[in-house]
Amino acid sequence: DAAMYCAKDLGKGRYRVFDSGMHDRAVNFLQLETNLRRALERGEFKVNYQPIVDLQEGGIVGFEALLRWHHPERGHISPAEFIPAAEETGLIVPIGEWVLRQSCSHLRNWQCQYDHAKNLTVSVNISVKQFAQIDLLNRIDDILKDSGLNGKFLKLEITESTIVGNYEVAKSILEQLKNRNIQLSIDDFGTGYSSLSHLHRLPVDILKIDRSFVDPIDEDNDEREIVQAIVTLAHSLNMNVIAEGVETAVHVEQLRNLGCEYGQGYYFSKPLTAEAATDLLARKHHW
Ligand code: C2E
Ligand code: MG
Ligand code: MG
Ligand code: MG
Repeated sequence: DAAMYCAKDLGKGRYRVFDSGMHDRAVNFLQLETNLRRALERGEFKVNYQPIVDLQEGGIVGFEALLRWHHPERGHISPAEFIPAAEETGLIVPIGEWVLRQSCSHLRNWQCQYDHAKNLTVSVNISVKQFAQIDLLNRIDDILKDSGLNGKFLKLEITESTIVGNYEVAKSILEQLKNRNIQLSIDDFGTGYSSLSHLHRLPVDILKIDRSFVDPIDEDNDEREIVQAIVTLAHSLNMNVIAEGVETAVHVEQLRNLGCEYGQGYYFSKPLTAEAATDLLARKHHW
């Protein structure tokens, strides 16, 4: 075809091919931005809920809220594709606020509906841009008030990138969130560049071990040492640990032996629609 022909003609330079690729990416990006804006207006987003499980008791302690997008023509689009675009365009701010609102009101419904759900929590991912938003705290206050949810049942997940290079500001926002009894987690822990000397001065409650460390622990190897080190670190700082990407019974067994409190992953459940999560609670499901 034409592009191949040019590439061959131009030899190693490949100027035209590179150029047209860049053009395609720019067009895609603009389309994605328009589509994201429309998706929010047209109600194409849904929040799914993945159970977080107590590894000793096998009971569900809460859910992580995970955004899903069903595009009318393209079908399901992965967060890995659209979250970065939403961040870059700033659309993550209104979209993220919508996720918070949905999550708090779903959890509040479950708490009211089922006695055994009274202490469940919901964990919501907060992007760097959202965290930097000036009226984040007011927005959260409004959402808690409107949903009737007590702040102690809300957990916010931030990544190390939110803290790095922004330590003093981040610390002050985290402290104000703690004043509302909101719980704070560091997501994908171990993959970023946060400094351990900072960690103990932040009011963080939970470290979530990234799934890249969890997957290989069924063999005796370095990753097991890393998981052990994170668990030890967390406990010495009075934090709890959630392992992400728990996929097998062997993972569960190993994580339990390493002293990890909670697990989340396909072994227990994929992220569920709100309806399926309600069914799970109605059945008082245990693992
Ligand atoms: P995350 O917060 O680390 O979420 C965990 C991801 O791991 C989810 O991917 C989940 O579906 C996936 N996962 C859970 N268990 C397993 C398992 O056993 N094996 C494997 N291979 N994967 C598992 P998902 O839903 O595609 O989300 C990807 C990322 O997109 C999230 O990573 C988070 O960073 C971001 N994201 C999702 N929803 C939101 C949102 O509402 N706001 C923001 N700011 N980011 C979001
Ligand atoms: Mg998360
Ligand atoms: Mg994660
Ligand atoms: Mg992640």
